[in-house]
Amino acid sequence: MSSQLLAPIKIEGYLTKQGGSFKSWSKRWFILRKGELSYYKSKSDTSEPKGTIPLKTVGFIRISEKKKKHVFEIHTAGRTILVMADNDESRNRWIEVLTRERDLIINADTIKKPAKLTVDDFELLKLVGKGSFGKVLQVRKKDTNDIYAMKVLSKNQIVENDEVIHTISERVVLQKISHPFLVNLHYSFQTEDKLYLILDYINGGELFYHLRKEKRFGEERVRFYCAEILLALEHLHLSGVIYRDLKPENLLVTKDGHICMTDFGLCKEGFITSKDKTKTFCGTPEYLAPEVVLSKSYGKPVDWWAYGSLMFEMLTGMPPFFSENTKEMYNKILHERLVFPSAMSSDARSLIDELLERDPSKRLCNPTKIKRHPFFKSIDWESLYHKKVAPPYIPRVKDKLDTTQIDPTFTEEVPTLTISGEYEVQDIPQKDFEGFSFVADSYLVSPPTTSP
Ligand code: ATP
Ligand code: MG
Repeated sequence: MSSQLLAPIKIEGYLTKQGGSFKSWSKRWFILRKGELSYYKSKSDTSEPKGTIPLKTVGFIRISEKKKKHVFEIHTAGRTILVMADNDESRNRWIEVLTRERDLIINADTIKKPAKLTVDDFELLKLVGKGSFGKVLQVRKKDTNDIYAMKVLSKNQIVENDEVIHTISERVVLQKISHPFLVNLHYSFQTEDKLYLILDYINGGELFYHLRKEKRFGEERVRFYCAEILLALEHLHLSGVIYRDLKPENLLVTKDGHICMTDFGLCKEGFITSKDKTKTFCGTPEYLAPEVVLSKSYGKPVDWWAYGSLMFEMLTGMPPFFSENTKEMYNKILHERLVFPSAMSSDARSLIDELLERDPSKRLCNPTKIKRHPFFKSIDWESLYHKKVAPPYIPRVKDKLDTTQIDPTFTEEVPTLTISGEYEVQDIPQKDFEGFSFVADSYLVSPPTTSP
């Protein structure tokens, strides 16, 4: 008997698994021990597993969209395994325990193999953005010449603002999640005073920048962006993550004209069912849902409110309840009747109306239903996911080094790692940042020598 079999059982039970060349469903006895999930013919026959899934190969575990009930998906590097529980409660329990165990394994792995990278491995090229706790620079990795975005965060400012959990969450979510319209994390590392995230460099500019330049977008363009954002949000939600900061500044346009959602700083994990809620007051005033303004418990519906506000803003040039005065804006979010410009199509109005429903229990929050709304009737969702739908606008960028679509107030600054408002390193609880450092799995196996 191997020592693995002696490891304590974390969870066990019957689940029905899809498998084989006929994709038939078979009932199997599943046992989760430290580091691996094995399945056996039956509870009484556990001498030899019929299969084993090492948790360190598991990307994410989520509720499935498949029509069958109580099904969840286990995504590994090579395949997606579909498993069905007896009821939703049991399915959610399995997702919760598996996700927790998977995170423990991945974090232990990261600590065992700390990223050898340091900031000296990168040449700082240009400043491309600033945020609440740091800045984003365009950088070149010296050994490969690859261009990346480096997000630099000040530990001091994170601790001062009680944002440690959000920051670790940002790294964990970025590491776990992979989707055509979500930014990709390659590495993360830290020094005594700062945290660094090395991301794909997206150089078509912020949606914010394009929207302010063009005042508003035509309906075709809004449909395209909203459809890609919908797939990204749906994916986050199915993975149990709420985003909480949907706004044009956090949506980048790729050089080919697709959407890339960035900034996972306000993400929160653990939202498996519609009953999972939180109360933290955060986000950006213009896009806050009424339940957040009222400091009530909230969940995934807040992202669909922000989505509705964003759609309105893209079509009109202004968020729906805008005021210079934040208090007045909150009052409008809670009470003011929404007025649509006469030029807006009835399909767009009807969708926005259903998204900007003040009561979250009545709000249109089901991505499958949103996809079926007449506003999206021309969208082929499968092609869209595979980036086979031609984007309505292609940014004018020459290559990865091009920063012409970035606000010049950033790019004209000399790129440095210094963060304004930063003060001396003092009493940073370094332990809180343990496990932040990370190297994407593909690099641990064989470091790339060409562009990813
Ligand atoms: P928060 O919104 O939580 O304060 P932040 O605003 O500090 O976070 P980000 O939104 O991640 O941080 O980054 C700030 C800006 O930097 C973005 O609005 C964007 O313009 C630019 N940026 C971020 N990530 C990338 C990227 N991968 N490629 C190119 N530019 C980026
Ligand atoms: Mg941001």
